[in-house]
Amino acid sequence: MLIITAASLAGGQGKTTSSFFLARALAKKKYKVLMVDADPQSSLTFYLGHEVELNQPTLLEVLKKQVSIFDGIYESNYSNLWLIPSDDGLETIQDYLSTTAMGELVLKKRLKEVSDTFDVCLVDSPPQRTQICLTTVVAADELLIPVEASSKGLHSLMRTLNLVEELKSVDAFEGAILGILPFRDRWVGRTQAKRSEASIQDMHEVGQGLDVFPSILESERYKQAIDTGRTLEELGHSNLELPFNKLIEVLERKWLKNK
Ligand code: ATP
Ligand code: MG
Repeated sequence: MLIITAASLAGGQGKTTSSFFLARALAKKKYKVLMVDADPQSSLTFYLGHEVELNQPTLLEVLKKQVSIFDGIYESNYSNLWLIPSDDGLETIQDYLSTTAMGELVLKKRLKEVSDTFDVCLVDSPPQRTQICLTTVVAADELLIPVEASSKGLHSLMRTLNLVEELKSVDAFEGAILGILPFRDRWVGRTQAKRSEASIQDMHEVGQGLDVFPSILESERYKQAIDTGRTLEELGHSNLELPFNKLIEVLERKWLKNK
């Protein structure tokens, strides 16, 4: 099982959006996909229309080893797509992770138990540099860094790359960086907004040779696809799927057997 974490150290960078659409695109190609909602805001759980019922295990109980990981996995409304959900109770894992020896390895260890069950696992990381964030980054075989096409986005990129360097310097990050995914790239007709163009150019510089994928364009269609449970293609906007198709192309070349 290939583990991909979407991480970016600021709010609203497209982590949840990109992990959701990448997961759906992979599931549509018949890969068995497990999504992990590692953000106490639980946007991903919400996007997947999953309601956490009282007493049902979530990522919190899985990380604390109070239940087997299999008990924390739920079917979604989409075929080939499963979820380990979260709710705001996940916040309480911080203390557990910071007081457990090698707390940053906890998610990686738990996911090993399902490595023969799924083809790909997509982890949605929180925006702050918390213990939860660290355990999601350390778990990754490939790190995807979604970044808003703005100065806030560039700061997020720098902070995320710094975190990776720090983790590498203590041998805690053994994965690779899949690349940078520009988010909310703004076009008016055939003209790209100056701010978007400049930010994406800067992403290439800051990323120093990392892949910069085709952008997620500024568009209401993504939200519409989430709200209606339909794909962008079904909504007549298959052009907006370009970033995810490109990501899958790279992943298939590097990791996945063509299905
Ligand atoms: P957080 O750090 O809060 O977890 P995030 O990095 O996961 O945020 P998202 O939740 O994916 O970011 O997206 C941020 C916001 O942008 C959301 O409100 C979402 O509805 C909106 N959004 C998603 N896709 C687009 C798009 N293509 N164009 C404009 N806005 C979008
Ligand atoms: Mg999010």
